[in-house]
Amino acid sequence: MKKSVIGFPRIGKDRELKFASEKYFKNEIDETALQEVAAELRAYGLKKQQAAGIDFISSNDFSFYDNVLDAAVLFNVIPDRYKELGLSDLGTYFAMARGYQGDKGNVKALAMKKWFNTNYHYLVPEIDDSTEVKLVGSKPVDEYKEAKALGIETKVAIVGPFTFLKLAKYTGAKKADDFKAAFIAEYSKLVETLKAEGVQWIEFDEPYIVRDLTAADIDLFKEIYNSLLAIKGDTKILLQTYFGDVRDIYDTVTKLPFDGIGLDFNEGRKTAELVKSGFPKGVLLFAGLVNGKNIWKNNYAKTIDALKSLKAENEVVLSTSCSLLHVPYTLESETKLGAEYTKHFAFAEEKLLELKELAELSDVADSGNVTSEKAFKSNQALFEEGRVDSKDDAVVNRVAGIKDEDYTRLPAFDEREKIQKDILKLPQFPTTTIGSFPQTVDVRKNRQAFRKGEISKEQYTDFNKNKIKECIELQEEIGLDVIVHGEFERNDMVEYFGENLAGYVFTEKAWVQSYGTRCVKPPIIWGDVSRKQAITVEWSKYAKSCTDKPVKGMLTGPVTILNWSFPREDISIKESTLQIALAIRDEVLDLEANGINIIQIDEAALREKLPLRKSDWYSEYLDWAIPAFRLVHSGVKPETQIHTHMCYSEFTDIIPAIDAMDADVITFEASRSDLQILDSLKENNFKTEVGPGVYDIHSPRVPSVDEIVTALTKMRDKIEDKKLWVNPDCGLKTRGDVETKASLINLVEAAKIIRQQV
Ligand code: GLN
Ligand code: ZN
Repeated sequence: MKKSVIGFPRIGKDRELKFASEKYFKNEIDETALQEVAAELRAYGLKKQQAAGIDFISSNDFSFYDNVLDAAVLFNVIPDRYKELGLSDLGTYFAMARGYQGDKGNVKALAMKKWFNTNYHYLVPEIDDSTEVKLVGSKPVDEYKEAKALGIETKVAIVGPFTFLKLAKYTGAKKADDFKAAFIAEYSKLVETLKAEGVQWIEFDEPYIVRDLTAADIDLFKEIYNSLLAIKGDTKILLQTYFGDVRDIYDTVTKLPFDGIGLDFNEGRKTAELVKSGFPKGVLLFAGLVNGKNIWKNNYAKTIDALKSLKAENEVVLSTSCSLLHVPYTLESETKLGAEYTKHFAFAEEKLLELKELAELSDVADSGNVTSEKAFKSNQALFEEGRVDSKDDAVVNRVAGIKDEDYTRLPAFDEREKIQKDILKLPQFPTTTIGSFPQTVDVRKNRQAFRKGEISKEQYTDFNKNKIKECIELQEEIGLDVIVHGEFERNDMVEYFGENLAGYVFTEKAWVQSYGTRCVKPPIIWGDVSRKQAITVEWSKYAKSCTDKPVKGMLTGPVTILNWSFPREDISIKESTLQIALAIRDEVLDLEANGINIIQIDEAALREKLPLRKSDWYSEYLDWAIPAFRLVHSGVKPETQIHTHMCYSEFTDIIPAIDAMDADVITFEASRSDLQILDSLKENNFKTEVGPGVYDIHSPRVPSVDEIVTALTKMRDKIEDKKLWVNPDCGLKTRGDVETKASLINLVEAAKIIRQQV
């Protein structure tokens, strides 16, 4: 049986691409040097896959920032404001990704959104009436040729035209339908070009078709692929889907003359059923059975069983369920985790081996018995023996004992709002930040030195306390109303909590790309989770001792902790989330008991695991995720103000659920999505006080006072003055000191101006 990989990680085992790109941004290396690093990384991935005997290896899965952005640039979907900067191609590309501020001008980045139900983010292509869709780039061809020169015949992977059209934002009068013909024509040119190059397989990634589709969507899909498939000639076309099943369009896709169809058997709840209902003869079924999103070893017995029934009817290629982009490179980089742990995991490179072993074992199983095969036996032994230190009955019992009333905070919102206004006495349009301040080199060095045992705990703590003190002085000087401690002790908002919770394990280098050069290292939920000891209390108490202003305690919420961890597969994510919620609840009550009367519980990733189909939103997810959040704060006194924060995603359609979190204040990312969310808040009579971010922190650009005043003025149209907060749209940890100070000064100034306008 043949094996296929949808995409391979590209950031580098040691995040080489990240570091090289950052040097390039700072002008420390030139484009040639950056391109060299990129080429090495591509070669690394290709060779690893080749060595594992993968038959279908992708090229063009590499990206300097994001594959959707690559497709936009390839087809000239480049808004004029970026072209007008007159930068090099790569410069324009990065300006679209990150914004640009320099001698050539000052422009914001494209909007960025979550890539389906992952923690990866794509840049939203922006199409206006003057956009001339045109194949102008050659990346797919170049990378195909590059692989070929290494002796590897690849399938050329590219974001499909349907997904591209659906994800793009149309800023003018013309909509997707008006650009359909142009995209068909230009994608056709791409097919022709690849054909001429001798490409054997083209992989169109169309994850969008795992969502709810309308009849018009299905027609659009048909129209696109009728055209593209008509010209394919000898080149074969693989329709690749992932992150769910294609129930709405299965009949259509199986009638179109694709040469291969890639389906996700992992997240696609209905995939097996659909295939059973009939799969076209002569078409390769790329069966996504090796989980591209999680790090647990594949259970060979189950997969071989699944393959057996698929192979009985179809010609099957064993595949990953999605791109391996969403898992780390290799367990080889993990030197500290003992074998009793790592033997249960498979990262990208280990998954290549799983594909190989599974294909071989499955072939054996076709004609005989696999149970005596060595690879099979050692795989099954893992599942039989269980995992050390993963069970805690006390935790399981505590979850079982949660009562309905534990999910409700009393008194109700309106009453609390009054009490809090009286006690906190904040000015109108209170100013605050989202929590973190720049994680400058010294901050990271201090943490690293402590981790390596180079400095004592006392030295480590003293340094951070000093930082907190400075940070608070800075906020006082700037004139912010609600102060934060700055989060200098945290590497990452989830890893930090995970480290302080029982039931978690950590990796050293298991980085996964989140957006651009930003990587995250998700901790692994290994077993039952509980709080070992107070986590943030000392830092918050210290911060409070430095100022008379209110200090906001800073926690990460249970849904985000779960969503940004690699979850268990042996219990439900709901069960794990409730365990985490109880642990964070203990911390909330501890903070309160220590005099912290504003507590922010971040749910940045609330939407992350929202099912892609609307019909599943509540029943499969929100019906337990929102109560889990309430469980965290339902025990506090009425005068304690609970904040939450969300970012990176669309909230417009889940506004009622967000209100039902029953926080007192919510801050969220809005500046990159043109404040669309405001209408939705108004329509839904949003009760929670709100701080829609007034500027984008994902770029170093300093927003002007005017710009912030304009944003606030727009907000006041839709949000009652008494409910409006003023804040950036996310934490400041990735920013530098200089731009942070300048931006916050402007923010406070803008709030003052607005106060005078009331
Ligand atoms: N409190 C966190 C911070 O400021 C929130 C980060 C986030 O939303 N991603 O860094
Ligand atoms: Zn945020």
